[in-house]
Amino acid sequence: MYFRGVIIIVNESRLVDLFLELAEIASPSKQEGALKDYLRAALEKRGLRVTEDQAGAAIEGEAGNLFAEIPGTAAGPVLLFSAHMDTVQPGVGIKARVGADGIIRSEGETVLGGDDKIGIAALLEVYDVLKEEKIPHPPIEFLFTVCEEQGLLGVKNFDISRSKAEMGYVLDAGDDPGAIVLGSPALNAFEYTVYGKAAHAGINPETGLNAVKIAAAAIAKMPDGRIDHETTCSIGLIHGGTARNIVPEKCVAIGEARSINGSKLADLTERLIRTFTEEVKKTGARAETKVEQLYPEISLEPDNPAVRLAVRAVNSLGIAPKLINTGGGSDASILNAAGLSCVNLGVGMKDVHTCDEFVSVASLKEITEIVLAIIKMGAMA
Ligand SMILES: [Zn+2]
Repeated sequence: MYFRGVIIIVNESRLVDLFLELAEIASPSKQEGALKDYLRAALEKRGLRVTEDQAGAAIEGEAGNLFAEIPGTAAGPVLLFSAHMDTVQPGVGIKARVGADGIIRSEGETVLGGDDKIGIAALLEVYDVLKEEKIPHPPIEFLFTVCEEQGLLGVKNFDISRSKAEMGYVLDAGDDPGAIVLGSPALNAFEYTVYGKAAHAGINPETGLNAVKIAAAAIAKMPDGRIDHETTCSIGLIHGGTARNIVPEKCVAIGEARSINGSKLADLTERLIRTFTEEVKKTGARAETKVEQLYPEISLEPDNPAVRLAVRAVNSLGIAPKLINTGGGSDASILNAAGLSCVNLGVGMKDVHTCDEFVSVASLKEITEIVLAIIKMGAMA
């Protein structure tokens, strides 16, 4: 492929072989040790200085985040690229195969783990092409995180002050290569509890306060589902009571709310808690609520320099850039909140978190080319 007079040579068979090898190294969340050792060796073999941080100990996992710095050979903003090492389950004993149709799948008993080993394979191939083709590049940082799939725990324990990056790119969005994520929601997790009063259900129910019934009535009054085009909320789980013949003393409901707009999320959170608390109080029972923000929102403008560089890079390859919002968080949520303009890029992972997960060889190659183009254009920025 021609690129401003430079041929970008992604070695497709090397890239695919590397991806297959990575996919078959089991790395469920908190069990990333073998993959971390492999990656560390792969980076050191390439002459890079790699450090592993203390995230593993902090989250009681096998491995910490790996961080590597690649000195620049040209001027330009320092660029950070990131992918996560862990996968969801079932993710042990993965057999990855390329079909005659150019699609890579597992044998169906496990996930493929293209989420997020596509990103890892692409970054290693990018490094090799940069060196082989002697492509001038600004300083680059690679961050391989652990435990993304469990509340972004790895990146939450990464010390961002170690990074000198001015722009960041996370390779972890499900859309096709060319997709550039501008917005993703903040997520609040809720625990709503009703404390009623136990009584025998047959002998003296009138002396009890039925926590299950009170919770049900309160939940029925609360906002639910899609609130507007940016905002959703839901109750996902409810449990209460101890036996058929006992008026339940306690009922706990677990819910969430998301919005791409932080102030809408704050308003909705306030409304959910107020409605629940008021409805429970009317009955004489006691309400308790807990809220935890699992990750903050991302809201990047199209003219953000990291977005603009990605758009130019995608365009340069003849791919149409697609500026999108997504419904979930990623490591980019945490990096953005820490002050680094960080864009999540589509890598073409499909049916993720299922045993039908797949990725095409074409997508694997395209995301690698996009990262190379970002770096190449970064050097000219
Ligand atoms: Zn992922």
